[in-house]
Amino acid sequence: MRRSSVAFAAVSVFTLASGIAAQQTTVLRAARMIDGTGAAEITNAAILVTDDRIVAAGPAASVAVPTGARVLDLGDVTLLPGFIDAHTHIIGRTLGDPLNDLAVVKDYASYGAIVGVANARATLMAGFTSIRVVGTRNFDDMALRQAITDGRVPGPRMENAGNLIGITGGHCDENGFRPGLIRYGPEDGVADGVDQVRAAVRYQVKSGADVIKMCATGGVLSEGDAVGATQYTYEEMKALVDEATKLGRKVAAHAHGTEGIKLAVRAGVSSIEHGSFLDEEGARMMSQRGTFLVPTLMAGETVEKFAKNGVLKGLRAEKALAAAAAMRKGVKLAVANHVPIALGTDAGVIPHGTNAREFGLMVEWGGLTPMASLNAGTLNAAKLLSWDARVGSLAPGKLADIVAVPGDPLTDIHVTERVGFVMKGGVIYKGAGAESR
Ligand SMILES: [Zn+2]
Repeated sequence: MRRSSVAFAAVSVFTLASGIAAQQTTVLRAARMIDGTGAAEITNAAILVTDDRIVAAGPAASVAVPTGARVLDLGDVTLLPGFIDAHTHIIGRTLGDPLNDLAVVKDYASYGAIVGVANARATLMAGFTSIRVVGTRNFDDMALRQAITDGRVPGPRMENAGNLIGITGGHCDENGFRPGLIRYGPEDGVADGVDQVRAAVRYQVKSGADVIKMCATGGVLSEGDAVGATQYTYEEMKALVDEATKLGRKVAAHAHGTEGIKLAVRAGVSSIEHGSFLDEEGARMMSQRGTFLVPTLMAGETVEKFAKNGVLKGLRAEKALAAAAAMRKGVKLAVANHVPIALGTDAGVIPHGTNAREFGLMVEWGGLTPMASLNAGTLNAAKLLSWDARVGSLAPGKLADIVAVPGDPLTDIHVTERVGFVMKGGVIYKGAGAESR
């Protein structure tokens, strides 16, 4: 009884808090609309939004305008579902920031979350109304999510992993420091052996994790590990996935190396992140099991650039060049084998707010059609997040997360980088009708 009265109170408060946006019925009109399901583009489109939900969407002639509705004619634009980035690190400094490498020992613990406020705003204004946050420290992702949900700061909906989980000295640890300076345990995400791995998962879930992030192999930006090398054993991965599944959470596996990808897929992860050295057999396994690939091509492009211009040096530069070259082949193999693909950028490695360039790279590197690329960043990503009942397409009953891009993204996919209108949950954050925020 107590629980249900608390829940009722929470709902009432939310309704009051969003009362200004509620009460309002809005009709959006535009030259074109792509609904996110892969269905053909609609010309002369309209979407009816009441409160935080889509009521109707389709050809303008089929959408009745209720009396008193606000009508916003957005002109020569294409309406799309709010974009979704399935691989971000929204907290803290970005790669290329000269203080990034030492942030873990020099920044105040709360500094990363404050930077995260600006990162979240830039992400939302770029049209990304939902993101998955695959790994941070100190649960700053949970604090930021709470501040966004409470309406204190603008930002996307967040599905959070809490601390990333990996082996001692691996990609998910902090390396290259004097021994003893940074000593993480399972609660912080550094866990060895099946018992510690299970404990690490339990603590992330207790602390608010919606999804579990695991480092199956080495990485590009970590010190002292080979990018392709497998880090967790199959037994550890299996225990991690088993524990997460028991607690109702999916697992996202950071995996570059060919063998590590296969071990993670066999262990039952829901997505392979990066997947650089994916081979034919691995692609077939993913396709059969429905394991998503989150290609993070922008991260590949960025680390390649930083290896060439000297921002990354030594082993990290070598790893960056090898991974970026492999990624171009890996993503094509995935597409050829019909592996489900969700858009992810590794934002944090790339500047926050530039995420939409991934749509173009998936077309140029991966050979996706513009429509398939748009699907990867809308409904497909929503499916990976298990949020497809709420977001990801322009369908009646879904949350009114809607963006507009100039012209037609099927002719020029790069117009996704020039989002001029952003609505999240029926509230306009950018473009016609936006309140200042
Ligand atoms: Zn990442």
